[in-house]
Amino acid sequence: MVAPYLRRLKRVRVRTPGGRTVFHFRKPKTGKHVCAICGRPLHGVPHGRRPVEVRKLSKTERRPERIFGGVLCADCERKVIEIAFYVKIGEKDIHTVDIKLRPYVEVALKRMVVA
Ligand SMILES: [Zn+2]
Repeated sequence: MVAPYLRRLKRVRVRTPGGRTVFHFRKPKTGKHVCAICGRPLHGVPHGRRPVEVRKLSKTERRPERIFGGVLCADCERKVIEIAFYVKIGEKDIHTVDIKLRPYVEVALKRMVVA
């Protein structure tokens, strides 16, 4: 019997160096990563690859090297940074910010350089 944890994996027929044909079990390919706020698919992140293939990519091939890279889409990132700016200069109160955006605004505030 196949081990229960292998049943959900994809079975692939592989020819070994000795000429035997065996079945290997592969983890399924990953789906598209989506923005944590609006749910749109993210750019610059790997999809349609197995986890083992993603691990072999370089660090910069796995997600964009900028704040909220691989977490938020460019539009939401811009929105969050703008709100963080208005909170920083005192135009807006952090408690009036949408509860969904607030954790990201707090992270952006911590990363902001005091002018
Ligand atoms: Zn978004």
